[in-house]
Amino acid sequence: MAVGTPEVTRFIRDYAAVIAEHKRELTKLDAAIGDADHGENMDRGFRAVVGQLPDSTPAAVLKAVAMTLISKVGGAAGPLYGTAFLRASTALDGKEELTEGDVVDALAAALEGIKQRGKAEAGDKTMVDAWTPAVEAARAALADGKPLGEILRAAATAAEQGMQSATPLIARKGRASYLGERSAGHQDPGATSSALLFATLARHDCE
Ligand code: ADP
Ligand code: MG
Repeated sequence: MAVGTPEVTRFIRDYAAVIAEHKRELTKLDAAIGDADHGENMDRGFRAVVGQLPDSTPAAVLKAVAMTLISKVGGAAGPLYGTAFLRASTALDGKEELTEGDVVDALAAALEGIKQRGKAEAGDKTMVDAWTPAVEAARAALADGKPLGEILRAAATAAEQGMQSATPLIARKGRASYLGERSAGHQDPGATSSALLFATLARHDCE
């Protein structure tokens, strides 16, 4: 396994392409329970991100992503994803080649950042509902001694299931919470973009 700066950069570029592809879908989901901008927010942010990637270390790449998202994307998602990438960067500080444990640590740090910044827990019908089971599944696969590809595929499957399981819930955080019970039955946009992030990661297992 080799995960270094080129692999991290490829993942970011691929995720930017996935977001561009799903922009309308994400905005449509946000139209139902938010303000119809999640696809545009993410696409604007990640278009800017791909133009400003350094080629030094994984931490530097992730930090550049974070700074661009924080400065270019308004609303909830920019600061939340920005914090996620910033915490992942800090977790990988000084590392050139990443082990399976490093990758899982970075994902866990990202989730902690999202939770602290948004003050949301699993069950609040936010992106945390995709990230929490994904990080748990990644940790479990790591503890079982699985290779990175399997760790990331387990995380992607859990993220997708977590996203689906949030659909019947009533939102307790973010704009969707203004709708109260009417938010139930709608798929959460941020959980959806997060499930896409894990699906993209799983295609980059670097084996
Ligand atoms: P905004 O709601 O400001 O328009 P976006 O539409 O880009 O921002 O993002 C909405 C998504 O952000 C939601 O679907 C939800 O997943 C996520 N979100 C909103 N508030 C929070 C929060 N406090 N904690 C975690 N995630 C949140
Ligand atoms: Mg919105």
